[in-house]
Amino acid sequence: MPPTLNSKNVFVVLCRPRYPENIGAAARAMCNMGFEQLCVVDPQNCDLTRILKMATHTASEVVEQMQVYQDLPAALGFLNYVVGTTARLGGQRQSVVSADRLASELAPLTENNRVGLVFGPEDRGLTNEDLRLCHRLVNIPTVEFSSLNLAQAVMVICYELRRDRSSESKPFVPRLANRHELDGMYAQLKDVLVKISYIQPDNPDYFMNNLRQFGTRLKLRAKEVSIIRGICRQIDWYGKKCFRDGIKKKGDN
Ligand code: SAH
Repeated sequence: MPPTLNSKNVFVVLCRPRYPENIGAAARAMCNMGFEQLCVVDPQNCDLTRILKMATHTASEVVEQMQVYQDLPAALGFLNYVVGTTARLGGQRQSVVSADRLASELAPLTENNRVGLVFGPEDRGLTNEDLRLCHRLVNIPTVEFSSLNLAQAVMVICYELRRDRSSESKPFVPRLANRHELDGMYAQLKDVLVKISYIQPDNPDYFMNNLRQFGTRLKLRAKEVSIIRGICRQIDWYGKKCFRDGIKKKGDN
C-alpha cells in the first residue's frame, strides 16, 4: 500500500494574493481536506473581515493561525521541499507533474519533511524568480482556459493530495490458464463425464461445447484449472476403486 500523506507537514503558501476573499476561500478548502497550515506572503489586502467571511466559522481557526511573511524566501525558510503551482506550461516550466500524480511523490516525503505548496497571485501567477525556489512544479490539467481561481486551485491540489489511493495499489493479476491447459482440462472432463454417464458417449462434443463456453466466460486461472483436473483424477480413481472393490467382493462370494 502506498504511504499516506502526513498533512501536519503540508503548508499552503499563498504568494502575494490580491483579494482577501481568496485567502478565506483557500482556508476553507484546506479545512475541507484536512490541512491546517496556511502561510501568506506579502498580501495586497489582508482585511480579516473579508477573509473570515469566505473562510466561514469552521475555517476561522486556520485563518487565526495563519503566518504572514514579507517575502517568499522568508516563508520557505523552514520548509524542506517546495512545490510551485502553475497554470502555464512551457518556457521555464518544462518538467511539470500533473496534480493527480503529486500525492504519490509527496506522501513519502511528508513523513519527515515539511512540504510547501506555493500558489501565485491571481493576476500573473508565480514569477520565474519564485519558481526558482521550487523543487517541483505541478499543474492542474484543464481543457483550454488553464487559469483556475486561486482558491479553487488550492482546493483541487488539496483534494488530490487527500484522495485515498489505497485501491489504486497494484492489483493482483493472476496467471490465466493457457489454451494447452484448458484443452487438457476439457479432455479430462469429457472423459470423466462420459464415464459417470453424465453425458452421452455418442455425441459428447455437443455438451462439451456448452461447457467450454461456460469456462471461457469464467476466465479460468491456471490454478483453478489444475484444481478441476485434480477433481477429475480423483473421480476417475474413485470409479476404478469402486470397480476393483466390486470385483473383490464378487470374488469373496
Ligand atoms: N494568470 C495566471 C494564473 C493565476 S491563477 C497565470 O497564467 O499563471 C492564481 C494561481 O492559482 C496560480 O498562480 C497557481 O498557483 C494557481 N493555479 C491556477 N490555475 C492553475 C492550474 N491550472 N494548475 C496549477 N495551478 C493553478
